[in-house]
Amino acid sequence: MTKLTGILGFPLSHSVSPIFQQAAMDYYGLDVRYMVWDTPPESLGDQIRKLRSRDVLGFNVTVPFKQVVIPYLDEVSPEAAVIGAVNTVVIKSDRMIGYNTDQTGFIKALREHGGMDPQGKRALLLGAGGAASAVGYALIQNGASFLVIANRTIERAHRLALELELLSGYSIPAVSLNKEDLSWYLNQEEPIDLLVNCTTLGMSHSSEMHNEPIGRGLIPGSALICDLVYNPLETPLLHSAREVGARTLCGLPMLIYQGASAFRLWTGLEPPVEIMFKAAYSHLE
Ligand code: NAP
Repeated sequence: MTKLTGILGFPLSHSVSPIFQQAAMDYYGLDVRYMVWDTPPESLGDQIRKLRSRDVLGFNVTVPFKQVVIPYLDEVSPEAAVIGAVNTVVIKSDRMIGYNTDQTGFIKALREHGGMDPQGKRALLLGAGGAASAVGYALIQNGASFLVIANRTIERAHRLALELELLSGYSIPAVSLNKEDLSWYLNQEEPIDLLVNCTTLGMSHSSEMHNEPIGRGLIPGSALICDLVYNPLETPLLHSAREVGARTLCGLPMLIYQGASAFRLWTGLEPPVEIMFKAAYSHLE
């Protein structure tokens, strides 16, 4: 019988996961279909009940459900519990188990495609949702020496900063996304090494596709500028970063590595990473 996996989010028109996950399933000749479960927030509970069927191996979770999905699950991994966000669910014997593969995916992308070891690095994170939480956790676990959280909703930035302080043992400032607050941290004697956009700004097929989370004049030219948004490959932020001479890292490598870990959790097979990259690049280009 054909098994199912898929992605749960809203809206999902920008998502590339169906392309490269299906390519990985087909590579092994698995009778598995990767579905798109576009789910308005008010239908989340009903949709999850439907997915508790024996034909579903598990699913990915994306915007805006990574945090709110947790109460619907039977169990979450220790990392997902600390991060407070789940991006991969495995269904085993009717039990839904949540994982967070964004954090390992981010570090692998940073090391292998951004050429940066996070040990001792100073980072500015834009955003305070599920992705920012995973990136903050990953940076602290891998030795980052300083973090600042900047978010449109300042209360959410404070909440995330407090949670991450418990992990890091050092103080983590929380600021808004306005120019004055950001400039202060960007003009310190010790420069920021890494800036990561963890907001949804710049995402194609959205009303915010032409928007940048930070003005061009503020982009630190000596830092690595990373955008978690992967569609388009060059977001407005990465375009500006390239123009000011900064190094850039697009969101696609992280997407593939978090997806590769999800594939391994669902199938127990080694993910065909090159096939996954090739499928995603040819779709996006
Ligand atoms: P989320 O939990 O819904 O958080 C969204 C974030 O974006 C919040 O910080 C929110 O700020 C901010 N935001 C939304 N609209 C904004 C606006 N108009 N102006 C300023 N800030 C705004 O989403 P998420 O799960 O963290 O995902 C965030 C992004 O990362 C998405 O684009 C997602 O596709 C991407 N992502 C990529 C990968 C990858 O593998 N490349 C992995 C994970 C996530 P407020 O708190 O003020 O609402």
